[in-house]
Amino acid sequence: MTSPIPPAILDTLRRADRVLLACHVNPDGDALGSLLALRRALSDLGKTVVSYVEGPVPQHYGFLPGIGEVATELPALDGFSAAMALDCGDELRLGRQHQTLLTVHPFLVVDHHLEHRSFGDFSWVDASRSSTGEMIYELILALGAPLAKESAFCLYAAIASDTGSFRYPSTTAQAFRIAQDLMLAGVEPAVVSGELFDNYTVSRLKLLQLVLATLELAADQRIAIIEATPEMFAATGTTPADTEHFISFPRALASVQVAVFIRQSEEGVVSVSLRSKGELDVARVAAGLGGGGHRNAAGVRIRNQTLAQVRRTLVAQLTELVAR
Ligand code: AMP
Ligand code: MN
Ligand code: MN
Repeated sequence: MTSPIPPAILDTLRRADRVLLACHVNPDGDALGSLLALRRALSDLGKTVVSYVEGPVPQHYGFLPGIGEVATELPALDGFSAAMALDCGDELRLGRQHQTLLTVHPFLVVDHHLEHRSFGDFSWVDASRSSTGEMIYELILALGAPLAKESAFCLYAAIASDTGSFRYPSTTAQAFRIAQDLMLAGVEPAVVSGELFDNYTVSRLKLLQLVLATLELAADQRIAIIEATPEMFAATGTTPADTEHFISFPRALASVQVAVFIRQSEEGVVSVSLRSKGELDVARVAAGLGGGGHRNAAGVRIRNQTLAQVRRTLVAQLTELVAR
């Protein structure tokens, strides 16, 4: 069962005339697509809207209409009548300035993470949703805002991102129903998929070659691990943002139950992506290490440990998980 929009969220948005919208750091298609679609809808209702994400925005999302107007530096926070966090499983996902952002009231939260840790004043959290984009589509309709073609495009990108193009278990009948509405509003799925998935530069493909060469299998090939080191980024002239979707390669192995991608993004920080199949819950594993996510897709950032240390911890915990 999906949960309905809390009236406090609708009332707040209807009344507000200046709204601040923010999504999670290292934004993905769902975070940015949702942010841009809601921004456009609220603007069309005559409101002043400022959208913010702690920078940088990955270059390959440059195709999303309106992306150029998303602030990557914290705007002045006076005079807002409401703020909203989109696609954030906890307040830390808003970035280093989360405490400052949360001084805006009422602070609204719209999210679909299983391991959601409550924050803000009024929340709409529904882990049965494919994506935040799906929830924002409903919110736009409920507000009586027109659905601009650009917004339909952004929402389709949001849903296609979080369902892996309607392939992951997050794919629901509801996601297909909304995708149909968005298509009828003018979205061409092939165009969005091309932008989301067939967007590699040659440097990025060279990075993928290096990363795939690190493939390690554990637990009778039920666990597959790949990694990216700072040296690989330097050698190919790429950044951690270029590794998006790399996790789908180890996940594609038929024998694999859990795929792991670890990378050193900045000095002293190791980012981990986890993907599982079926009932195996990697959100629990990520949450245990201080991160979060969904049953089949989760992540965590770990400080002050080397890639090798993080790899050992994960292999031990995941071997136990797949043995259950
Ligand atoms: P990723 O592997 O970065 O694509 O993330 C997969 C899922 O895990 C996404 O739904 C994220 O929202 C969640 N996630 C990723 N990194 C973190 C983190 N550091 N803390 C909490 N949740 C995360
Ligand atoms: Mn996200
Ligand atoms: Mn999402």
